[in-house]
Amino acid sequence: MNIILFGPPGAGKGTQSKRLVQSRGWVQLSTGDMLRDARKAGTELGNRVAGIMDRGELVSDEIVIALINERLPEAEAAGGAIFDGFPRTVPQAEALDRLLAERSSPIAKVVRLVVDQDELVARVEKRAAEEGRADDTVDAFKVRLKAYNDQTAPLIPFYTGQNKLVDVDGMGSMDEVSARINAALDA
Ligand code: ADP
Repeated sequence: MNIILFGPPGAGKGTQSKRLVQSRGWVQLSTGDMLRDARKAGTELGNRVAGIMDRGELVSDEIVIALINERLPEAEAAGGAIFDGFPRTVPQAEALDRLLAERSSPIAKVVRLVVDQDELVARVEKRAAEEGRADDTVDAFKVRLKAYNDQTAPLIPFYTGQNKLVDVDGMGSMDEVSARINAALDA
């Protein structure tokens, strides 16, 4: 089963994806992680996207679609993908639909983690202290939130139109949120 974990920066997509990898054996496909890996490895692509990511802007659709496409065979072999931080624009979502249609394995559900804005800011501040990610500064976070509101939020009507969107309360402990996600997936 292929699912998308959807939500603003700091909503807990990465944390919850990792839990689903453990419990269900699916593969987590995080474009944010793939791009950070490319930077760490110092590849040409990594160098190209570094400034964009640090400012909190979105990298081009073409780049992330290619990264995802490369990993689809692995997800298919595992029996499912958890898309995390992808798609982030309507063209990305349309491309994903096309790629999955070729493999006859469409998105089953889009789980939207709903978290208060104040809580998002608090979580990102905490992560900045713990992990030191370059884009967890106050300024970059504002740009990321704006990118989410302008470019990613239009996916809510997109997936509502496909009857796939399920809202899950993302407030509370990690265990509470996991339990809600599992209930939504099994419903
Ligand atoms: P967040 O914690 O904001 O969800 P991610 O780790 O998913 O962050 O992404 C970090 C950065 O990587 C983004 O701000 C953006 O620059 C880039 N990025 C990740 N995924 C995408 C995507 N699907 N489209 C465009 N840019 C992306």
